[in-house]
Amino acid sequence: MFRKILIANRGEIARRISEAVRPMGVSTVAVYSDADEGAPHTRAADEAVHIGPAAPRESYLNAEAILAAAKKTGAEAIHPGYGFLSENAAFARAVHDAGMTFIGPPPESMERMKDKAEARRLVTAAGVPTVPGTEGTVSTTEEAKAAAAQIGYPVLVKAAGGGGGIGMMPARDDESLEKALRACGDRARSAFGRDAVYLERYLEAPRHIEVQILGDHHGNLIHLFERECSIQRRHQKVTEEAPSPLWWQGKRDLLERIYDAAVRAANAFGYANAGTCEFLVQGDEFFFIEMNARLQVEHPVTELTTGVDLIGWQLRIAAGEKLDLHPSRIERRGAAIEMRVYAEDPIRFFPAPGKITTWEEPTGEGVRVDAGYEAGQMVTPFYDPMIAKLIAWGQDRSEAIARGLAAVRSFKIEGEKLKTNLPLHERILADDAFAAGDLDTHFLEKHARPSK
Ligand code: ADP
Repeated sequence: MFRKILIANRGEIARRISEAVRPMGVSTVAVYSDADEGAPHTRAADEAVHIGPAAPRESYLNAEAILAAAKKTGAEAIHPGYGFLSENAAFARAVHDAGMTFIGPPPESMERMKDKAEARRLVTAAGVPTVPGTEGTVSTTEEAKAAAAQIGYPVLVKAAGGGGGIGMMPARDDESLEKALRACGDRARSAFGRDAVYLERYLEAPRHIEVQILGDHHGNLIHLFERECSIQRRHQKVTEEAPSPLWWQGKRDLLERIYDAAVRAANAFGYANAGTCEFLVQGDEFFFIEMNARLQVEHPVTELTTGVDLIGWQLRIAAGEKLDLHPSRIERRGAAIEMRVYAEDPIRFFPAPGKITTWEEPTGEGVRVDAGYEAGQMVTPFYDPMIAKLIAWGQDRSEAIARGLAAVRSFKIEGEKLKTNLPLHERILADDAFAAGDLDTHFLEKHARPSK
C-alpha cells in the first residue's frame, strides 16, 4: 500500500479522500489555490501545498504544478477525485511517467470512452444496447437531417466531447435541428475545445440508472448494483439514491440485465478501478449512454447500502491488489438518498455564490454530511456550486426519506448573497410522486414546485 498520496482536488471530495484513507495508514497531501487557503480540505490532509491562483486552469487543472507538489512531498500516487483532471488521460500518463501511480483507470480506457460517439460504437459491438442514433459524429446539416429522418424526431444533438449536462439540445423538426446543431457546436467548442456532435433519439421520459463498476488489474471486474439519478436540473443530478425504486417495485430482472450490460461495457473499455456505466431506462427497455472513468459524486449511496469502501478499493486496486468482492456475496442493506447541496437559487437554479455566515450541519441516526465548506468561508464562482452532500440512510426507502427530510430541515446555511437549494430538497423529499418512486428525468418540471 502507498505510504503517501496527493489529492488533486478540493472541497468535499478532497476532504473525504483524506478521511477515508487515514485508517489505512496512508498519509495525504492536499493542494490548494489562492481562493482555498485554509479551507477544510487543506486541514483534513497531513500536508497542504499551494499550487496557484483561484482560476482552475492555473491551479486544480495545472498538471505541472500538481506533479511538482507531488514530487516535492514524496507522494507515491495521485488521487484525482472527480471533475478537474480526473478523466484526463494525458494527466494519468504524466503521473505514470513521473514514476507515480494514478489512482484511476488505465489511460487507454479513458481514451476509449472520452469520445461519447466512439464509446457508443464500442459498446454496441459488445452487444450493449445504446439509444438509437448516429454511428459516430455528423459533420454537415444535410447528414444530420438524413440521420434524424431515419432515427425519427424528436432527436437530441449531443457534443461528442460533452459532460456535465453541457452541449445537449433536443430538436423536434428540421428547423429546430439546424438551430440545435449550431448552438450545440458553439457550446461544445467553447466548453470542450471541439465541436463534433452526434444524434440520439430523444427519450421523452426516461429514468437515469447507473451501475457502479470495480475492476482490478488481474482480470476481475464486478458491478456493485445501481443508483437512480433521475432527479436532475439542466441534465445535472440533484438527488441520487440506491437502490432504485425499481428494485423495491420488483423490477429485479430488468436491473440484472442492466448490471450484465454494464459489466460487458466496462470490459469492452478494458476498464480497471472504480467507474460508472450510465443508462437511460424507459419501460422495460434500457440504453447505455456513457461510462464515467472516475469515482462519482454520488458514490456514498452505494457505500452505505453495500458496506463497500469504494475509495479504499480504489487505492488497493491501484496498488496492485486483487479484488476479492462479488455482488453475489454482498447483501444490499436498506436505502440511501443523497441530496446535492448547491449554492444556487432553489427555484431558477442560477448560481448564487457568496460568503457563508452560518453553517450548522444536521446530525442524527443514518445521517452523513460530506462538506467542503464551513462558516466564514467564501463560495466563489470559480468552482462547482456544489458545497455539500447530505446523505440519509434508512432500513427502507421511507425511513431514508423521513430521515433525509428531518436533516434537510435542520441544515442551516446562511450567508451574504449566498443562496442554497435546501428548500428544493425539502420539496422533493416531501413530494408524493417522490415517495411513490415515480421518477423520470423531467421530475422537477412536474413536481416539487414551490407553492405560491
Ligand atoms: P453528460 O455527460 O453531459 O452528463 P449524459 O449523456 O450522461 O451527459 O446525459 C445526462 C442526462 O441528459 C441524462 O441523465 C438524461 O437526463 C439526459 N439525456 C441524455 N441522453 C438523452 C436521450 N437520448 N434522451 C433523453 N434524455 C437524455
